[in-house]
Amino acid sequence: MAEVILENVCKVFAGNVKAVDDVSLAIADREFIVLVGPSGCGKSTTLRMVAGLEDISAGTIRIGDRVVNNIAPKDRNIAMVFQNYALYPHMTVYKNMAFGLMLRRQHGFWDNLLWALFAPGKFRAARAERRQIDQKVRDAAKMLGIENLLERRPKALSGGQRQRVAVGRAIVREPKAYLFDEPLSNLDAKLRIEMRAEIKKLHRRVQTTTIYVTHDQEEAMTLGDRVVVMKDGLVQQVATPFEVYERPVNRFVAGFVGTPPMNFLEGRLLQENGRLYFDEGDNRLPVADVHRARLESRTDGPIVVGVRPEMLSPAGNSSSGAVLKARVAVVEPLGDRMDVHVGTSRHPHITCRVDARQTIREGESTTFAVEMDRVHFFEPGPMGRNITLG
Ligand code: ATP
Repeated sequence: MAEVILENVCKVFAGNVKAVDDVSLAIADREFIVLVGPSGCGKSTTLRMVAGLEDISAGTIRIGDRVVNNIAPKDRNIAMVFQNYALYPHMTVYKNMAFGLMLRRQHGFWDNLLWALFAPGKFRAARAERRQIDQKVRDAAKMLGIENLLERRPKALSGGQRQRVAVGRAIVREPKAYLFDEPLSNLDAKLRIEMRAEIKKLHRRVQTTTIYVTHDQEEAMTLGDRVVVMKDGLVQQVATPFEVYERPVNRFVAGFVGTPPMNFLEGRLLQENGRLYFDEGDNRLPVADVHRARLESRTDGPIVVGVRPEMLSPAGNSSSGAVLKARVAVVEPLGDRMDVHVGTSRHPHITCRVDARQTIREGESTTFAVEMDRVHFFEPGPMGRNITLG
């Protein structure tokens, strides 16, 4: 077990493609950290540099107390689980799991009956080592519920079972850190959720530093002690899932995290009769007292308000407080909740997530109460800073 430290790490590929731009991260011993971001943001390249599968263009990576920049992958004492599992097709599950350990045996050379006659001490040491490996493989198989599959070959396994074998192969190594690169991408939705829970349980059990890469924000939020949101090779925010959701540093993070995504309404702030309002075009929403001090000086330019779908609820007949009047385009039932897609003349795509027992009809104009103390205000532009955080 070990901490993993990245200091000002960069990766520039041939053709001057800057895949990773000055990333610094301190991953604590035993922490589960998830790198998340859209395709091409540099998360896999970052992971591959930690694994040693890509050279580092600039910066330093430490695993435990060792700088590993120039250390070969096999000597970094980390275990990686890939999206495509990378199992050996001609080997049984048992051999797939034992293979890495067998290669690294200290006394492997003496593991031959001949040596029982000529060097019995060395032969006994080799056999003891083999028994230890056997025990590790069986313990890991038990932990993952695949004891009954040890004699099968990968082609006779389901996707989920193959994934378990790939994880098992990593566990037996007892590495300093686990690196997972989109390990659940090839599984169907139900199995993904099951395996996600298993990976989390496993981490609680083995307590080993884990770096996990995914493009799926829900997976990131459910798994990570902390998540690292990346875009264009840059780290946007490193924080707990709660913090990233509740206190996104900019509009990109706010829009990336959460399903359905946050609604962004562009407009202006205006003062009237001593009150501050956000003017969306068709609607004026009073700014909550908690945000007032930070926003009062911003009445001269455009501003963006971020409203999560669950912050909008049918207002009934109430016309007081913060109310958004909009036309209902589509209602999508989801069981206990429903997504209601509404629009105003300036903002035709606003999503509200509401209780399914509400009666809302497509085509009607209706009012939604806005929880103004929970919304966020951003500077204009796709990367606009969250002003409400100060
Ligand atoms: P995905 O989720 O699609 O795998 P990612 O966030 O993991 O995306 P990377 O694979 O790290 O992204 O790639 C980051 C950037 O570096 C991309 O623009 C990609 O095209 C580029 N890149 C990756 N590998 C190479 C390479 N070997 N040569 C040149 N450019 C590369």
